[in-house]
Amino acid sequence: MATMSTRAVDEAAEAGADAGEPLIAVRDLTVSIDGNELVAIDELDIPRGGRLGLVGESGAGKTITALSLLDLQPRQAQRTGSVRLEGRELVGLTDRELSRVRGADVGVVLQDPTSALNPLTRVGRQIDEAIRMHSSMTRRQRKERVLELLSQVQLPDVKQLRRRFPHQLSGGQRQRVMIAIGIACNPKLLIADEPSSSLDVNVQAEILDLLVRLGEEHNMATLFISHNLGVVRMICERVAVLYGGKVVEQGPSDAVLDHPRHRYTEALIAANPDQIASDAVQGALGQPLWPIPGETPSPGQFPSGCRFRNRCAHALASCAEDPPIKRTPADGSFICWNPADDGERPDARG
Ligand code: SF4
Repeated sequence: MATMSTRAVDEAAEAGADAGEPLIAVRDLTVSIDGNELVAIDELDIPRGGRLGLVGESGAGKTITALSLLDLQPRQAQRTGSVRLEGRELVGLTDRELSRVRGADVGVVLQDPTSALNPLTRVGRQIDEAIRMHSSMTRRQRKERVLELLSQVQLPDVKQLRRRFPHQLSGGQRQRVMIAIGIACNPKLLIADEPSSSLDVNVQAEILDLLVRLGEEHNMATLFISHNLGVVRMICERVAVLYGGKVVEQGPSDAVLDHPRHRYTEALIAANPDQIASDAVQGALGQPLWPIPGETPSPGQFPSGCRFRNRCAHALASCAEDPPIKRTPADGSFICWNPADDGERPDARG
């Protein structure tokens, strides 16, 4: 197999990146437009080769949070804080420097392959373009790599298929092509934004299986954006719950989804039609499904203190102040003044 020659990842490894540090470490990241915060992440780590689920309602800020890691937020937005990839600070890099990270160190798979793929270009050429941007492979090497990638994403008759246009493929096949583009340069992290939600149920399962297998085979971390808590529990070791562009709770998936501490996480689980709420959560709420009242406010419309305060049935007077980060014994954290299941009394950090 031909080798990639411009892997910044290899450079980082040669520079002695600490194997114990997370692949991605986000600290105090904000994205604002006219002073209104769209993203406000205190801390978020993505472990090497791990799968992190980013969940929340529509409008919670999942996609913009993920894309802001690569400085892909709206052009008029201001980004501050720190995003470190293998210890290397990404905030403040020039567009040229970031273009070497995007696609090479970090791949992206978007929700709708129909709009993401160019309808006028054969799919093999679209994969080839992704390789060419980040490697010095010869044309022949790239052709071999395109066929290899199409095989890796389990498409049939790859020699013929690479010459087809997107409209000549099924929805599942188009998403496999998107995944081939996302992994074309062996990224360390794949951002998968609702990668199966536009597909039939049986195809969804195949795509999710494929993403998990590719991640494990290539030690590639995945940031998996979804509103489907059941899917996230099934495939992600860790989950981060987002509300109003802020991570309100994170930790091992089973611990967070079985014993949520933040009141928004608790409400999100109880409102989930996939019935993933544990007996404890359902029992506490008194019924199997419990819609969350109201809607996520627009940026700039959040109440002071906890952003969930206007929709929370457990709000206290103290919730008008910013809640501190609290750690859980299960290697998680949350920000809530009046958490669910408070018998464990986690340690306060700040
Ligand atoms: S901090 Fe207060 S308002 Fe926010 S989720 Fe917790 S209890 Fe509800």
